[in-house]
Amino acid sequence: MKEVTGMFQWIKKQMCYKNLRRLRTLVIALVCIVVYSCVGFTAMESDEHITAQEIQGGQVSFLDNRLSLNEPLYFVAGRIFLPMKEFVSQMGGSVIRTKNTFRISWNGSEIVLEGMQDERLNRPIYYFDKVAYLSLYDAAELFHLAVVFDSPQKKINLYHKKASPVVPVDTDNVKKGLLRLEDIYFDNGASGNFSNETNEKLRAVADYLYTHGQSFYIAWIPFYKYPEMGIENDMTQNFSFYNADFLYTLDYMVGHNGHIVLHGYTHQEKNTQSGVGTEFGANTPFSAKEIDQRMQKAKQMANALGFEDHIFEFPHYAFTEDQLRIAEKNFDVIYQQYTKAKKVGRAEWVRKGGREILFLPTPLGYVPSMEELPGVLEKIDTLPEDQLRSIFFHPFMDFTKIHLTTTTKGERTYTYDSDSVLVQLVEKMTRSGYAFSDIEHLEE
Ligand SMILES: [Zn+2]
Repeated sequence: MKEVTGMFQWIKKQMCYKNLRRLRTLVIALVCIVVYSCVGFTAMESDEHITAQEIQGGQVSFLDNRLSLNEPLYFVAGRIFLPMKEFVSQMGGSVIRTKNTFRISWNGSEIVLEGMQDERLNRPIYYFDKVAYLSLYDAAELFHLAVVFDSPQKKINLYHKKASPVVPVDTDNVKKGLLRLEDIYFDNGASGNFSNETNEKLRAVADYLYTHGQSFYIAWIPFYKYPEMGIENDMTQNFSFYNADFLYTLDYMVGHNGHIVLHGYTHQEKNTQSGVGTEFGANTPFSAKEIDQRMQKAKQMANALGFEDHIFEFPHYAFTEDQLRIAEKNFDVIYQQYTKAKKVGRAEWVRKGGREILFLPTPLGYVPSMEELPGVLEKIDTLPEDQLRSIFFHPFMDFTKIHLTTTTKGERTYTYDSDSVLVQLVEKMTRSGYAFSDIEHLEE
């Protein structure tokens, strides 16, 4: 721990050298020793850096009252970090620090954080100018807050989070299925599917699944590109409120039973748009070496942002046998039917090059439209018993069915219509004796 603290001192010294506030906006490289000691960053490669950047003009409000924070906010690896003591005291609480223990009193409860990497934290506490910083996600989770982003105003609005009732699942007696939320990416508003509002709805999707005891997979496109609109959104480089909202949303989803699946690197080629284009398959413009590099870059991007990187899904399931071998070299789990399976529709462990690779098919297919949903739901009962109840759908189909509100007591909540894809899907699975689970529990 001393080494880490010493390093922060060093960084701080560099930052304090000459005029600081402005100079500090220069990106600071925090060395990987910190990274390795950080919860959530264990997969990071030794030559990679976490970057931090002072935020110019960020605002935080609580129950529609602006908090007057003298210390600046920071981006750390793209996430928003808050000056802990000032933030808590502006909210009406207090923080007492003894060495590395933080005793936080707020709203009638006391939270004790043992050290900078307390196990309750998703991201470690960082120091800038001797001031301890807590990630927005951790602050929201510790204090049961809901976050509403207003990216154009560089503003975050905090409310009390109204907890949804938890619906228990009898995990010992349900059969296990798999759910994948398809094509999740941040496009700076290009598609309209990933705005501040829809990101909050995506968190509601995760919250609904979490409170109903369901797990899920998130098919995330790491690097969003839309050449015709000049968009290339590398979230390891572009720190902004837009991207911070998306990372907050991914953190929220992962923290509520979600698992990251790398859905290609860009899910596009040439001039096509991510999510619409393809990337791999028979018509790919990329050589075998470039394909290998793209898969590795997808992993590096996940690592740099602190996400898991071992599950892969080919965009539009477009692949060749040679490309599949490259994927098998780079990943432990490939989310598709094993091409040489004797029986289709089953999860299959296959020994490749001394390693076990898991193939996960989606025999239930996906939900192409609301009109076709009843037919898809019926398959849950009619599919042969030995086939996996594994399905994917695009969450944006539900965005008009999710309603976000703030009550007069300052509680942020949502309602999810019963005629939505997700609610019908979860209810049908439950009635048929299934729950959406994860790889770890699949064979129980
Ligand atoms: Zn896709």
